[in-house]
Amino acid sequence: MDATAQTSSTEQPPPIAFKAETRQLLDILIHSLYTEREIFLRELISNASDALTRMDFELLTNREVHDPDVKLEIRLTADPETNTLTIQDNGIGMTAEEMVADLGTIAHSGAREFIQAAHESGQNLSDLIGQFGVGFYSAFMVAEWVKVTSRSYRKDAQAATWHCTGADTFTVEPAEMAERGTRVTIQLKEDAKEFVQEHRLREIVRVHSDFIPFPIYVGSGEQQANRQTALWRQTPREVEQKDYDEFYQQLTLDFEAPLAHAHMAVDAPVQMYAILFVPPGPERGMFSLRKQDGLKLYARKVLIQEYHRDLLPEYLQFIQGVVDSEDIPLNVSRESVQATRVMAHLKKLVTSKAVDMLKKLAEDDLERYSRFWEAYSRYLKQGVAIEQSEPEQLYPLLRFHTTEQPERWSSLDDYVASMKPDQKHIYYLLGDDDRSALHSPHLDVVRRYGYPVLLLTDPVDAFLLVRLTQYKDYPLSNVATAELALPNKAQEPGGDAQPALDEVSSQDLIERFKSRLGERVTDVRMTERLADSPARLVDPEGAPNQEMQRVYRLLNREFEPPKKVLELNPRHPILMRLGSLPVEDERNALVIEQIYEDALLIEGLHPDPASMILRIQKIIESALE
Ligand code: ADP
Ligand code: MG
Repeated sequence: MDATAQTSSTEQPPPIAFKAETRQLLDILIHSLYTEREIFLRELISNASDALTRMDFELLTNREVHDPDVKLEIRLTADPETNTLTIQDNGIGMTAEEMVADLGTIAHSGAREFIQAAHESGQNLSDLIGQFGVGFYSAFMVAEWVKVTSRSYRKDAQAATWHCTGADTFTVEPAEMAERGTRVTIQLKEDAKEFVQEHRLREIVRVHSDFIPFPIYVGSGEQQANRQTALWRQTPREVEQKDYDEFYQQLTLDFEAPLAHAHMAVDAPVQMYAILFVPPGPERGMFSLRKQDGLKLYARKVLIQEYHRDLLPEYLQFIQGVVDSEDIPLNVSRESVQATRVMAHLKKLVTSKAVDMLKKLAEDDLERYSRFWEAYSRYLKQGVAIEQSEPEQLYPLLRFHTTEQPERWSSLDDYVASMKPDQKHIYYLLGDDDRSALHSPHLDVVRRYGYPVLLLTDPVDAFLLVRLTQYKDYPLSNVATAELALPNKAQEPGGDAQPALDEVSSQDLIERFKSRLGERVTDVRMTERLADSPARLVDPEGAPNQEMQRVYRLLNREFEPPKKVLELNPRHPILMRLGSLPVEDERNALVIEQIYEDALLIEGLHPDPASMILRIQKIIESALE
């Protein structure tokens, strides 16, 4: 034993060193000049609330605890004489060992991310503090020292005090505390005296902790400082938009308001309240309080599960919110909630409300719905592909770009409204991006008829089409199919109007293409289905359709597309001239190769577009001769 330890061994408990990353965090917080330091109170109240929630849950099944009958609450008291502030809860409490473990290392994932970000950015650290939620340690922004005295709910538990004055070490020693719970005492820094003023404390509670589900009192008064409403248990008519927005923001810590919300109060077949939100975007910010997908599940106002995933199908897991039911049996364990009949009813109700919320958003607010669609389209497309019961429910939510309106989002109903009188099918084109899709040779023929075409350029669209094969009375048809069903051929405008290659030159040209391209194509033939394009590639009969090819391509990197048929346009000037070029002219090969590779390119199948440059230069050269 060294000398210092010996002198202090009877009076003082031995100091315990913080872990390195905790020390770093404390160092930053102690010296921070962050202006919105008041958020430390939000963090401490949130911890108190967590401790009460855990107590509440324990009490469902266990009354053999210290102080089983006290009313759960949080109390803030301040002493201007000594410049101290106390945050006390009668929650689950901590033993000495728990204090060493929980207050000695960084538990809060926000804090860990904060340190990460602090390392990575030269950005003003104080800005970062506000964005992360640094947990318990945020108290050190305003504290000379922090003392935590706690008594665990376990009957035989000993109270203890955790004490920390600086960035390096803390102590833990036995203490006297009659009541259950935790008391955090802060000796405020000289420049943090504002936090002894009760009106200031009330103000902070209202801004940051209004929806904490336990009463918060300030001073010795009995007037509650927070609204503490279970907002979801109020009558929807009486709740204002801004209350929902605030509730969402306190629930998630998102900076932005949600894109939409829905409020349910249901009595049969099960009793339930719920509020659902569509977050502004699918990515949970690092700053979000919600660490996982899932809804907060309450049974009779007691939080049963923080992230419950079984009330919504997989593809709606982006939805945030709260569900509360009187009918969930109170003796449940968190694990066994899933299986009951009640849960099946709840799932059905919540899911259909979620879908309605999206439909309503689509009807009420085009601009917001576009934002929604751009953020979440993949979820819904996935939903159509995997939903076993009534995927049609989701069809009205789908949006597409079309050849008519490539810049806007059209619903299937919008598409149907823009169909031509003789049009029997909904046409679509698969592609890799909208811009090149618009140049696809497959559009030539439908353009002649003036038919609109859906542009499906999202990789998951292929999955969507496996399910979505018909909408209302209209089957969906891929315009890239060689034998696309179209009204009477005789009506095809442009039929005989333009000169074409005659039978003999056509045959001759086909042979030239075949011998040049060899194995690379399964066949070469003429088609009347092209207008502005000289050629296109289509699937040979019996090949897996294009949607399936794309699905395979997505599922398997090694996938090689099946060889295609090259179709030529006998009226195209390039082919007409090529037809009259002598066989021995070396430009034959150049042009045939280029036409073929152009067709590959436009199908999104070209393995190496840059390799065409040399040939294109030769073609330019000969054009300039
Ligand atoms: P987080 O709340 O995200 O877990 P914090 O840094 O805010 O991270 O708190 C660290 C841990 O300290 C908590 O997880 C909890 O175990 C414990 N703790 C903090 N405050 C209390 C309290 N008032 N009552 C009981 N335990 C607490
Ligand atoms: Mg916390």
